[in-house]
Amino acid sequence: MGRQAKKLGASTFAFFTRNPRGGSVKALDEADVAQFLREMQQNGVEGPIVAHAPYTMNACAADPSLRTFAQDMMRDDLARMEYIPGNYYNFHPGSHVKQGAQVGIELITKQLNEVLTPTQNTIVLLETMAGKGSEVGRTFEELQSILSGVECADRMGVCLDTCHVWDGGYDIVGDLDGVLTEFDRIIGLDRLRAIHLNDSLNERGAHKDRHAKIGEGCIGFDALCRVINHPALRELPFILETPNDDAGWAKEIEMLRNAYQG
Ligand code: FE
Ligand code: FE
Ligand code: ZN
Repeated sequence: MGRQAKKLGASTFAFFTRNPRGGSVKALDEADVAQFLREMQQNGVEGPIVAHAPYTMNACAADPSLRTFAQDMMRDDLARMEYIPGNYYNFHPGSHVKQGAQVGIELITKQLNEVLTPTQNTIVLLETMAGKGSEVGRTFEELQSILSGVECADRMGVCLDTCHVWDGGYDIVGDLDGVLTEFDRIIGLDRLRAIHLNDSLNERGAHKDRHAKIGEGCIGFDALCRVINHPALRELPFILETPNDDAGWAKEIEMLRNAYQG
């Protein structure tokens, strides 16, 4: 992964902690870990890395066995993350599936309180969501409700996905400052640890969550350039989740590096 990042001109990257749609993983091999850390260093990956939990992990599923599955998966992923200290573990808060957002928030908070430990090194990030279906985390208020109930609050942060907040209704094109002021008022900008930088195929408030290539969607290149250069955001890790192949990502990284006011 470190070599791949270098090839594309990146200085950080994201990876799924296991198959994004599946559950099982092989036992952790300490030699693999050592090699991973070596390659990161050799390839100039500065990090922090933003690992992504599987989409199948739903901490607020209605079925208790699915909640147990989600909890076990998060605990196992976080144990693995401790082998590469100083990084982030991002997850989709969950879908409440007709139980209502309040129940969803309570179940997610409960899972975090059962899994997180005060001594862990990894910071767990809640991702801002588009509000597709019954997704929890479309509003800053919902994310703050979760954060305020977590005992190990200093092990928590937020990852802002530009496509998701736009689809969720926040006007990051016309009023980025206003959106960030609201984020700061409700959650606190000190909680913001990473950005998923994506364009969106849909108009603001569409609740669709369909990512577009940088500059080819409804957010547009200029607005995304304002995101990467904003004083409150410019030092954060930016992760592309655009529909691309390697050549496409290399091109986007180059375009964005050129637009980044060093
Ligand atoms: Fe995500
Ligand atoms: Fe994302
Ligand atoms: Zn998305």
